[in-house]
Amino acid sequence: MNPVSSITTDYLVVGSGAMGMAFADVLVNETGATVTLVDKHDRPGGHWNDAYPYVRLHQPSAFYGVNSRRLGNNAKDKRGGNKGLFELASGTEVCTYFDQVMQRGLLASGRVQYFPMSEYLGENCFRSLVTGARTQVEVAHKTVNATYMNVQVPSVRGPLYNVDPAVSCVPLNELPRTPAPSDGYVVIGAGKTGIDACLWLLRHGVAPGRIRWVMPRDSWYLNRKHIQPGIEFIEHTLGGQVANMEAVVKASSLTQLFDLLIETGQLLRLSADHRPTMYRCATVTEPELEELRKIDQVIRMGRVKSVGATQIELEGGTIPTNHNTLHVDCSADGLANRPAVPVFNGNTITLQSIRTCQQVFSAAMLAHIEHSYDSDEQKNALAAPVPHPNTDVDWLRTTLISTLNGLSWAQQPKLQTWLGQSRLNFGSHFAPKNAKEQKNSGALVQQLAKRSGELTLPGITKLEGLLALAE
Ligand SMILES: Cc1cc2nc3c(=O)[nH]c(=O)nc-3n(C[C@H](O)[C@H](O)[C@H](O)COP(=O)(O)OP(=O)(O)OC[C@H]3O[C@@H](n4cnc5c(N)ncnc54)[C@H](O)[C@@H]3O)c2cc1C
Repeated sequence: MNPVSSITTDYLVVGSGAMGMAFADVLVNETGATVTLVDKHDRPGGHWNDAYPYVRLHQPSAFYGVNSRRLGNNAKDKRGGNKGLFELASGTEVCTYFDQVMQRGLLASGRVQYFPMSEYLGENCFRSLVTGARTQVEVAHKTVNATYMNVQVPSVRGPLYNVDPAVSCVPLNELPRTPAPSDGYVVIGAGKTGIDACLWLLRHGVAPGRIRWVMPRDSWYLNRKHIQPGIEFIEHTLGGQVANMEAVVKASSLTQLFDLLIETGQLLRLSADHRPTMYRCATVTEPELEELRKIDQVIRMGRVKSVGATQIELEGGTIPTNHNTLHVDCSADGLANRPAVPVFNGNTITLQSIRTCQQVFSAAMLAHIEHSYDSDEQKNALAAPVPHPNTDVDWLRTTLISTLNGLSWAQQPKLQTWLGQSRLNFGSHFAPKNAKEQKNSGALVQQLAKRSGELTLPGITKLEGLLALAE
């Protein structure tokens, strides 16, 4: 066995994915602490390093990344499915960004040590994947687990169904590298990666009739128009949040609630004939949805069990296939529904979302809470984990926990100041930035904020009631 060397640090952060980076960035910029980051990857950014070449953020760049450094140019797209909305960084941009954060921000501070290509073994010990050398870390404050969310992408996890070796079946990463045109395509998976694979094929001129889309469950989609940082979208964003809560307060069942959320344009779905049961925070725009609706061969026969030379076996029956068909695997569970555990627990911090589907914001805020409060009890009271949603009922659960967290933050003036200044906090982008914006939208912002405040308590009560009915 290789000899063990030893180093010291205040915080040991295991994982330099987006969450580990966002956490370390706040610690380094807001405190004098030393931080050590360890990761199996050769570069920071975690799963973005393994993502498909045509991946883009699903949300505007304006509030993704780390708090201290802007991502992108705050420009609006002039063409494509995201036309008129704020830019979405590509996977390459995201990786370059995290590399710059590491090199020019964290390492340049002189208080950060970074060990890429290193596997954490537990007990504050890690091993180089290149030399096998082990390092023992003396941790003065805490060990931070930034791997708990267990993100999986298809390129690093093969399909869970059997595939006949003679059949062409590739992860969606391989689509741009497919050697020859195929007679037909079967996209397996209806989450965000399945959407991206279908849109890629359509964008490259594949006729919709040549695509079959295996959709074990229909999904509710978030309308990206309602997740925009510019004040000009205020009616959709802050107005959308108010509309959500108005719908909650009005609804007497989950079905009625989702009908209202469709009416207000908050949620979208592929087909009015198939009521979704899945909700995983996937975002689309209305033009993207129009494109997807051109695919009329949507296979709703459950999950794929095997892909054979002549047929695909699904839970609900079989469909034909052949060797001229390319099967595109989009079935990895990108964001697993991990059980909630206390974030702050003695010498350990387990990073989790504390606002629905806002992992980087959550990691940054947890770092701020960590150094701003004394006891684990105080900290955990501000940081109830919001597990990643999976079903429509989870919409209620995640909205409830996020709202309760927001209510506890509202009672802490020093957190309010931080939230108002944090670029990762979506809400910070609502504030008018100049006199003109103030004149045009100031009154509306105030009116919506007031209405939002009025709806919070009745909304919480109703969410609890609807959840009790649905469970
Ligand atoms: C296609 C796609 C698009 C997305 N778009 C958005 C978006 O627009 N907005 C958004 O908020 N979220 C988005 N997400 C969610 C995204 O997962 C999070 O934003 C974020 O990237 C998650 O980062 P993470 O640090 O939790 O996980 P990861 O990126 O998985 O990082 C964890 C790191 O831990 C390392 N690690 C694990 N085990 C060990 C070990 N034993 N030793 C050492 N290192 C270890 C891994 O190598 C990895 O680098 C998207 C996800 C996907 C899959």
